Amino acid sequence: MRKRSCSGDANTRMNPVKPLDQTFVIVGAGLAGAKAAETLRVEGFDGRLVMIGAEAERPYERPLLSREYLRGEVGREKVYVHDEDFYAANEIELRLGRTAVSLDTSTNEVALDDGKRVRYDRLLLATGAEPRRLSVPGEALDGVLYLRSVADSDVLRERLDRGGSVVVIGAGWIGAEVAASARQRGLDVTVIDPLGVPLERVLGTEVGSIYGDIHSDHGVRMLMGTGVAALEGSTAVERVRTSDGRTLDCDFVVVGVGVQPRAELAAHARVYVDDGIVVDEHLQSSMPDVFAAGDVAMAHYPFYGRRIRVEHWSNALHQGPVAARNMLGLSDRFDRVPYFFSDQYDVGMEYSGFARGCDRVVLRGDPEEREFVAFWMFEDRVMAGMNVNVWDVADPIKQLIRERVAVEDRDLADPDTPLEQLAYATRGGAA
Ligand SMILES: Cc1cc2nc3c(=O)[nH]c(=O)nc-3n(C[C@H](O)[C@H](O)[C@H](O)COP(=O)(O)OP(=O)(O)OC[C@H]3O[C@@H](n4cnc5c(N)ncnc54)[C@H](O)[C@@H]3O)c2cc1C
Repeated sequence: MRKRSCSGDANTRMNPVKPLDQTFVIVGAGLAGAKAAETLRVEGFDGRLVMIGAEAERPYERPLLSREYLRGEVGREKVYVHDEDFYAANEIELRLGRTAVSLDTSTNEVALDDGKRVRYDRLLLATGAEPRRLSVPGEALDGVLYLRSVADSDVLRERLDRGGSVVVIGAGWIGAEVAASARQRGLDVTVIDPLGVPLERVLGTEVGSIYGDIHSDHGVRMLMGTGVAALEGSTAVERVRTSDGRTLDCDFVVVGVGVQPRAELAAHARVYVDDGIVVDEHLQSSMPDVFAAGDVAMAHYPFYGRRIRVEHWSNALHQGPVAARNMLGLSDRFDRVPYFFSDQYDVGMEYSGFARGCDRVVLRGDPEEREFVAFWMFEDRVMAGMNVNVWDVADPIKQLIRERVAVEDRDLADPDTPLEQLAYATRGGAA
């Protein structure tokens, strides 16, 4: 049975403070915002707590939106972060369907799209990310779909119900999961991407090609190494013209070409923004009262000695609470090894680490059997590891990375050498 790792690095705990007369505002009612709100109450914050969310839904989690929820296997009740009565019970003023349109860091005020202003003592920006748009002729035709919200997933699910053929533009995580779900629902699926193999940016060519084979084996037509020249049709998209001159007929198109952080509020308020809102390891921005967490935050990772913006569930789950504690004046550091997961068909995986700068890949197990672990190495250290249909190994993988354990390729490649033995040989304890 699959078991995913939710454990991680221990955070500092200090005595809670209770700023009774203060107002804390969270902009962005997603996973990071919701976990921050929960943590503020758990830590004893009993001031006013306002949470502003542009979507009509209370906070929900997105991973099921490209998988079980999209395929109609689970209902809406499975996606929410908290029960419906959680917010009222915890005196969290949830303002849904409301967008924060500007921020004034000199008066500590957030302006909303209904003209109201909310004053804050501490502000958390957890505004997430939004899909990058395709910029080709025909991009505005009906049937050109994106997937970020539960509403997007509903629209896409209705398309899957109708069957037919879909072209998925972009072979990243969203594109790959949508392609798998569409195939599982019996549609004709073509995936197109200018890179040579799916998921190449993160996995590289060797491991990405294994995912290419998995999709091909399930009957997906993988058109790698070519881009989109135009989308064509009268009012709705009917075909995709590729940059290498092919024409692909289709009933609809799904675009998954990455996301960009929603950092405009911060940028206009002169909070330092780079590829996301720049925050330190306490998730505090260049303005001391303003914090950021989740997909929008470009955080300094002490372990890596650099800033990284991570667009994954686990990051939002854990950064929200760290930001909340630091809003209360505590001193938590966020310094986890990045971690994410993906499910495509019957292939589940977990990825830990950050593979930039690696010089080779070591494989343990059999990619043909779809049961293996890949390690991205630099010299004798593991930079990142991905377990595919192999479970309960994410913690030792994180330990190998975090403790910079020196390992031999042959030990990593040998399934009879337990990873725990390599990871905990010198130090003991869990990652
Ligand atoms: C379809 C899909 C599948 C995914 N699957 C996986 C997976 O398998 N594994 C994994 O690790 N990660 C996955 N992810 C990524 C993961 O869901 C994100 O990392 C996570 O949602 C980030 O949470 P967040 O709270 O930072 O931002 P979001 O979830 O984006 O929430 C931010 C919220 O803020 C709101 N907002 C933005 N601006 C404003 C404003 N000015 N005023 C008010 N509200 C505002 C937005 O509308 C949004 O509701 C997936 C994402 C998608 C879209």
